[in-house]
Amino acid sequence: MKTWRRFIDSGWRVTIPKPIRRTLGWKNGTEVCAHWDGFEITICCPKIGCVKCPDISRVGALGKVLIPPRVREEARLYPGQVLSFTFPGNQIIVKPEEQQFRCSACGSEHEVRQVLPNVHLCKLCTQKLEAAALQSVKGAEYRVAQGK
Ligand SMILES: [Zn+2]
Ligand SMILES: [Zn+2]
Repeated sequence: MKTWRRFIDSGWRVTIPKPIRRTLGWKNGTEVCAHWDGFEITICCPKIGCVKCPDISRVGALGKVLIPPRVREEARLYPGQVLSFTFPGNQIIVKPEEQQFRCSACGSEHEVRQVLPNVHLCKLCTQKLEAAALQSVKGAEYRVAQGK
């Protein structure tokens, strides 16, 4: 089954992956219900009994859903945390994952990889670093060639 990964932003919102939204026909303003059962979060259209349920949320701009306060607390979620999304049928299964890593150099969250233990770099900074390393190697070769 396909898994999508999205992280919780600083405003406790998470983007429902577009293919899922499209399949379910969820649009801006659609009411959804997020339940935490102690293991995973399920997001679905409100069912009977959900009318007064405290876990009701709404699809916002760009497919973002505000995670209801009770779910945040009980699932011990935190901004920056990665959530995995699977879509086995009529509801979305969301599982909390590890923290989203930021680039140690520029703070970007885009295409970040671990390069050394506890050092994470984004693609752009990795390229910059490699280019700088190449320059210094060339400089050293030049100095050797010049007998300096
Ligand atoms: Zn509910
Ligand atoms: Zn970077």
